Amino acid sequence: MNPGLITQSNAIAHAGVEISHLSKSYGDNLVLDDISISVKPGSVTALIGPSGSGKSTLLRCVNLLETPDKGTITVGTQTIEAGRKVKDRQLLELRRQVGMVFQSFNLFPHFSVLRNVAFPQEKILGRSREEAEARALTLLERVGLKDKAHQHPSRCSGGQQQRIAIVRALALDPRAMLFDEPTSALDPEVGIEVLAVMRELADAGMTMIVVTHEMSFARDVGDHLVVMAEGHIVEEGDPARIMADPREERTRRFLSAVL
Ligand code: ADP
Ligand code: MG
Repeated sequence: MNPGLITQSNAIAHAGVEISHLSKSYGDNLVLDDISISVKPGSVTALIGPSGSGKSTLLRCVNLLETPDKGTITVGTQTIEAGRKVKDRQLLELRRQVGMVFQSFNLFPHFSVLRNVAFPQEKILGRSREEAEARALTLLERVGLKDKAHQHPSRCSGGQQQRIAIVRALALDPRAMLFDEPTSALDPEVGIEVLAVMRELADAGMTMIVVTHEMSFARDVGDHLVVMAEGHIVEEGDPARIMADPREERTRRFLSAVL
């Protein structure tokens, strides 16, 4: 167990994520068609597939940034059923338990780096400013960014901004983390720093779903690989097996484009 990026208490509390018979349409466009994925506590599921296959929509449904039409989502012991009204308290709790990191960082531009990481802790967890900033500094130090604490995000490189976005999510003690192409907007050499933090997080036992085109990350860090196309799961299983010996033509086509 690596105590670096996650606290003992939430290391113990890492949750599984069960996505069961999830469907979602935008108007007539069926974007997710009966998707079921089971992510064991402390495991990493990599999600790949061509653009437009529904990967982002799936992640956004898991923490209810989008409303699914059908199916259920379970994080730990909390289950959300499509079609049933979600209480505000349940929504907040789910968002707290499931951290999300986007391709475009989404930091607050007018806050310092320190406030970016501290503010959500104060707002969502009710931590005091002092406690939240202390936690923020500890986490920033762990990813080598303590010296940026009092700067604005615009003064940080893309790779630094993405590491700040990751620690901002971690500061809320999530039980699972969703990553939507976290390195796609970064130069490859900068992406490596971000992938290193994600790898450390995986080693520490965080439950993760990672949408990525980084095949070496998916193979080395992923416990499970899910290949999506046109709202369906085309193939899933051991990442190394699928990359070496894809069973489906659509998987083969996608892999030959990215490998
Ligand atoms: P991916 O992340 O795999 O590229 P997305 O989940 O972003 O795929 O998109 C899947 C499909 O859903 C695409 O056809 C896209 O145009 C459509 N879509 C995504 N978001 C919206 C939205 N907010 N409104 C309407 N259509 C959307
Ligand atoms: Mg996407």
